[in-house]
Amino acid sequence: MNGTKKRIALLGATGSIGTSTLRVLRAMPEAFELVLISAGGGNIPKLAAIAAEFKVPHAVTAAETCLPQLRSQVPAGTTAYAGEGALCDLLSTLDLDLVVSAIVGNAAILPVVAAIGAGCDIALASKEVLVAAGYPVMKLAAEKKVRILPVDSEHSALFQCLEGHSPDNVKKLILTASGGPFRGKSSAEIAGVAWADAMKHPTWSMGPKVTLDSATLMNKALEMVEAHHLFQMSEDRIDVQVHPQSIIHSIVEWRDGNQTALLSVPDMCFPIQYALTLPDRIDTGLKRLDLAQAGCLTFERVDERVFPSLAFARTAMREQGTLAAVMNAANDVAGERFRQGDIALPGIWTIIEKTMSAHQNGKDPTLDEIFAADNWARAYAAAL
Ligand code: NDP
Ligand code: MG
Repeated sequence: MNGTKKRIALLGATGSIGTSTLRVLRAMPEAFELVLISAGGGNIPKLAAIAAEFKVPHAVTAAETCLPQLRSQVPAGTTAYAGEGALCDLLSTLDLDLVVSAIVGNAAILPVVAAIGAGCDIALASKEVLVAAGYPVMKLAAEKKVRILPVDSEHSALFQCLEGHSPDNVKKLILTASGGPFRGKSSAEIAGVAWADAMKHPTWSMGPKVTLDSATLMNKALEMVEAHHLFQMSEDRIDVQVHPQSIIHSIVEWRDGNQTALLSVPDMCFPIQYALTLPDRIDTGLKRLDLAQAGCLTFERVDERVFPSLAFARTAMREQGTLAAVMNAANDVAGERFRQGDIALPGIWTIIEKTMSAHQNGKDPTLDEIFAADNWARAYAAAL
């Protein structure tokens, strides 16, 4: 890496990916300058503490009501702001080199669009951005010659395997999945599980939303659509295999039958760091993989009779348009209803299926059409 510091923004700084990103930044203080941080309104003291530790000039909370608290807690050199509009304005004007998007859910869409509009590269963890709005977002990124660098571990793995290769040589992309806490269970066993059971992820420590999505395998459905946009692959070239050890992060199968995989211990600092330093690889002391110690790596097919999630993604990719946004929105609403004890876990799939079936898909959608479909789906899924 060259001598000048890269100016970066970290959106969703207080969350799980945000925290891992800060670990990466701490290990490379000479390489990056954190210019902007943002979060929701759930943990203002943490946001203020990050501003103090990294001497961040701009800190934004999504919640207007949290502004007085943020203002009173940030250090002298930090200006506090509130609201999505303020965040988008800053992203448009701060002349950043890279924006790390780690906001959970659709709240990441407009900030990411603003950053792309300003010509800024994106290190993208917020998978919902591409799932809901992949068509217009990728189009804008191409127009602005902006790179969307994947942070999601599977997509970072695919990105690294594909570097320097023509997509024409790819037979298919194989996303690996841990299988989540309910791997191997029957439909009957899954019917009665509770929120706390779903939060026990076997290999990754993550925020609650993606942890639930991993338990239902909706995370893998979202990731299939994410891969569809990032690598411009049709649904018949995107496959999933369960790999409980989460050491192989994904695999490219080439036309000649060879496969290339990326391996590391499961730690999100690996894909985050690569998105920040690529094409360079820096030793920051991350734990090294010892395959002999890992012992055996195993693989299984997804039991799609028990976990029907992947079929939703295939349908959404085949139909293109607004249907993936509808799948994503219905998943959000159904997940929240499960958290509140309103429905059983399999009810999540029922709600997604019914909402997708009732949707009038719109091809080549604009952002406004996507937000309209999203709003429609949220209302529909809530009423089911
Ligand atoms: P968390 O729930 O841990 O963190 C979410 C972050 O988003 C918090 O900083 C939160 O702020 C912020 N936030 C929430 N709502 C808003 C809003 N309306 N406006 C602005 N900021 C908001 O999530 P994760 O870190 O686990 O996940 C973040 C994204 O990364 C998700 O899209 C997830 O799918 C993806 N991802 C996560 C992985 C992981 O290992 N965790 C792996 C791969 C992808 P506050 O604290 O104030 O609520
Ligand atoms: Mg992932």
